[in-house]
Amino acid sequence: MRSLFCAALLSVTVVFLTGCASTRGVGRFHTVVLDAGHGGIDRGAKGVDGSTEKKYALDTAKRVERGLKRAGYRVVMTRKGDYFITLPSRVAISNRRSGAVFVSIHYNWARRSSASGTETFYYNLKSYPLAANIQRELARFTGNRGVKRSRFHVLRNNARPSALVECGFLSNSSDARKARSSSYRQRVAGAIVRGIVKSSR
Ligand SMILES: [Zn+2]
Repeated sequence: MRSLFCAALLSVTVVFLTGCASTRGVGRFHTVVLDAGHGGIDRGAKGVDGSTEKKYALDTAKRVERGLKRAGYRVVMTRKGDYFITLPSRVAISNRRSGAVFVSIHYNWARRSSASGTETFYYNLKSYPLAANIQRELARFTGNRGVKRSRFHVLRNNARPSALVECGFLSNSSDARKARSSSYRQRVAGAIVRGIVKSSR
């Protein structure tokens, strides 16, 4: 996917070419803005087992926070509890921090109950390495749906390199069972931490 992506942009601009050449990282950063999806009245996806996305997203984000702090990063959480925060507020928290990257954490839902696995989204080219590094780590132990471009509000309006991670489908009974286990959420968090750390170069 990466080489195809670069090939498609070969004739665009030198800036884009430089971006492609350094897909391993997004440059040095010391601060990570972690965004646990949904919260409060916005519960997010509802699992086949009655679980809620907002709860798993926050739990996973807190695990990522612990891992990043241990690795020496500064972490800013867009929400620390079960309360509502607007999408523009989430982006504003990110855009206020220079030298930061932004990672939003979600669990997925699809009408088709067979849909399963993890996927990571990005919007602009400077964010691609961050998304790709995170998804590469997740792909080691989850169904890999790949790295995808999306116009999600928190990505499109973000001035920082930013990625949105979907950690599994709550509409799929097997994924939902995994999401319910704290050891799965810990493994997911570890993968996200490693992907972020690898992007810091
Ligand atoms: Zn979500």
